[in-house]
Amino acid sequence: MSVHLRRRFLVGVLSLGTFLVASGWSTPSEAAGQPRRSSGFVAVGTDWETPYYRIETDKPGPTVMILGGMHGNEPAGAYAAEQIRHWTIRRGTLVVLPCANRLGRAANIRYVPDRPMEERDLNRNFPRPTTKATRGVLAGEIWKLTLAVKPDWVLDLHEGYEFNVSHKPPKGKKRSVGTSLIYLRTAEIQPLVDRMLDTVNLTIIDKDRRFVPLGRGPVIGSWVRGCLHHLKIPGMIVETTFKSQPLSLRTRQHRLLVNEVLESLEMIEDSQVDTMVDPRSDAISVGIFDGPGATAGGVNRFIGLIGRETDMQSSVIGPGDIRPRTISQFDVLLFPGGSGSRQGKSLGDTGRAAVRQFIAGGRGCIGVCAGAFLCS
Ligand SMILES: [Zn+2]
Repeated sequence: MSVHLRRRFLVGVLSLGTFLVASGWSTPSEAAGQPRRSSGFVAVGTDWETPYYRIETDKPGPTVMILGGMHGNEPAGAYAAEQIRHWTIRRGTLVVLPCANRLGRAANIRYVPDRPMEERDLNRNFPRPTTKATRGVLAGEIWKLTLAVKPDWVLDLHEGYEFNVSHKPPKGKKRSVGTSLIYLRTAEIQPLVDRMLDTVNLTIIDKDRRFVPLGRGPVIGSWVRGCLHHLKIPGMIVETTFKSQPLSLRTRQHRLLVNEVLESLEMIEDSQVDTMVDPRSDAISVGIFDGPGATAGGVNRFIGLIGRETDMQSSVIGPGDIRPRTISQFDVLLFPGGSGSRQGKSLGDTGRAAVRQFIAGGRGCIGVCAGAFLCS
């Protein structure tokens, strides 16, 4: 996209947003009885500095800590954690560290950049069964935060490169752990695992892409394993698969599974799965369609563009998200270039009707190239 077009796009969205705010779309301020929200940083003053968020209620209940972005080339975990920090809970405390390995995420690489071989995989740097020591500054800081938070439950959101259930690796290679729940099988945790699998697998038609339980325990050196072994905190690694699946689908799977855990702990009243942006923010919220017919290049460019604007927030959305209630959190829907007919087909009659209703309600719809056909 040329600089000129880019500017035109942003001006268009901003002027539309101004109109929406003027016509009463600003979000209400926090009501009494709502959870308190605060934030801080781990590894303050270092290259690895990264924010965490705390959502606290007055009602006693468990403390759950969620990490995303431990491996920088697994975007769905970081993306979902960033969404989950906007959720509302009814009891207990939720602490979310959305992007543990911020520099790795920025470079889209698994490892922490510029670290020696033995220290580069952040999720191998946490206390092993034989030692209480961490490796490297970043793992040390995250571990310190964990000790301060004293969670009752931990969740770490990852992605694999293949579907564990159907992966056929070459001889001598291990199967990818993609699309699985990794945990240590006990009588206490198994019913929750079964419940999570039931919920998420109901949304997956293709049997070769279904979630499986891997109850042998998280790998030694991982954060969840360290929590289990040294702090006796139950937890789980949630893995989606980045191969051939849009980001919106993978983040939804993460949200669905986290929602299930919080629901089982009676921390949430209503499902929070559909909450993808901050409902209390005055920023213009944009839903970027990344389903069939939308090119990945276009989607990523818009994520980057909007990410640089402080008065805008965005989320990728797929065909399953195009429902009146879900899209009502957005001011603008954006359909990127690609194939307009495929985008339209994937939405189906109900999705297209929801978009029409959205526009008729005074909200914005921007179509770029192929996406423009859909909005017209
Ligand atoms: Zn990972």
